[in-house]
Amino acid sequence: MNVYDSKRIGDILHNMGYAETSVLHDADLIILNTCHIREKAAEKVFSDLGRIKKIKDERASEGKTTVIGVIGCVVQAEDEEIARRVPYVDFAMGPLTYHRLPETLLNISRRQGTTIIDTEFPAEAKFDFLPENSSLGGCSFLAIQEGCNNFCTYCVVPYTRGAEYSRPVADVIGEAKKLVATGSLEINLLGQNVNSYHGEDVFGKERNIAYLIRELAKIDGLKRIRYTTSYPADINDDLIACHKDIDILMPYLHLPIQSGSNKILKAMNRRHTAEDYLKVVEKLKKANPKIGMSSDFIVGFPGETDEDFQATLDVVNEVKYIQAYSFKYSKRPGTPAAVFNNQVLEKIKEERLQILQNLLFSYQLKFNKESIGKIMPVLFDMKGRHKGQLLGRTPYMQNLHADLDASFFNKIVDIKVTNATTNSLSGEIIKG
Ligand code: SAH
Ligand code: SF4
Repeated sequence: MNVYDSKRIGDILHNMGYAETSVLHDADLIILNTCHIREKAAEKVFSDLGRIKKIKDERASEGKTTVIGVIGCVVQAEDEEIARRVPYVDFAMGPLTYHRLPETLLNISRRQGTTIIDTEFPAEAKFDFLPENSSLGGCSFLAIQEGCNNFCTYCVVPYTRGAEYSRPVADVIGEAKKLVATGSLEINLLGQNVNSYHGEDVFGKERNIAYLIRELAKIDGLKRIRYTTSYPADINDDLIACHKDIDILMPYLHLPIQSGSNKILKAMNRRHTAEDYLKVVEKLKKANPKIGMSSDFIVGFPGETDEDFQATLDVVNEVKYIQAYSFKYSKRPGTPAAVFNNQVLEKIKEERLQILQNLLFSYQLKFNKESIGKIMPVLFDMKGRHKGQLLGRTPYMQNLHADLDASFFNKIVDIKVTNATTNSLSGEIIKG
């Protein structure tokens, strides 16, 4: 979602006549888009700002002014701290207000000492005020839903991104059509709980994500649909059926379970048990036997015992994830779990993370190795590590490098996989 937000902030700035530079010292305006989900990400903002302040000072000695802005969830959660700790920041805006960036930038010259802060939850939806989502070609993100009403006890999202909001169906379809018309072959529907989508159609009728996927699949020229991130309790049969019926819906689903222990899931305030989750996975695999699963895991949530942790490993062994993200539980200010009195020792969290990641990586490597010799359609939308190489994604979101010239950029190409590591594949084009 932050990649999407950064892209949209870029769209606003392009519209205002700004151009990008890759040399920080040349920038008249520097904006950090920030994440508050774990402590490490949030603290990084302040250390990065320290470095940016030095650049601002250097440029000042050359007679140049530099405007510094901070946008995103760290601002929403820590606006007063930003004004106090890093007063040289000119403006700070939450993730729901950045559509007001043009006004904010106009007001910078009038600011007197204090940082301009804009963190109120606006009545209007930012999506209605953003410029067109310009296609960068190949793959595009399309936000259809934002915010969350679930209040998992560890998570800041309901506080930083606010209540759940679904964009109207017509807006989503219109934006998708424009993206495809300007070169997008793949659209990734985005939301904190994307499958809880319930946007209204033109008749005021609420539609779900399955309806959207079926409508999007009718767009001529669209070759791939993905959606992320899904909340297990909100996956219904309608959506599962899409994985059977819709060819261009990719056979890969990121469906976070967080923990395999029902005791921990309850303490996390998740609305699903491990059994509910496994039932959904079973149905998905029945709908499309080729589907590959991915998940998020938190280890060391307050009260997690060795047995609870083993239950998480059991789920991994059952589902055999082809990819996953795993994190040590991080105490977040203002969330209920931060003050639970049964916190797990850092050392134990680290040990468990190592064990979990080793297991996850072993399944990931196994899946990647099994890809060797197969022919896969790969969408190349990034430059490769070396000259003359392109980097793309298989239907399973695996990174794949191939020696290809620029004429294959933003195209889907049949590639024979020749090599595999835990994190990427390499392959060659099928001749003939
Ligand atoms: N809505 C999605 C997840 C969005 S947050 C869901 O409910 O599954 C992205 C991921 O960050 C979460 O899945 C979780 O694994 C991780 N996360 C959130 N808060 C965290 C915390 N306090 N400590 C560690 N990881 C956390
Ligand atoms: Fe956070 Fe996801 Fe839980 Fe919402 S459902 S509170 S975004 S982890």
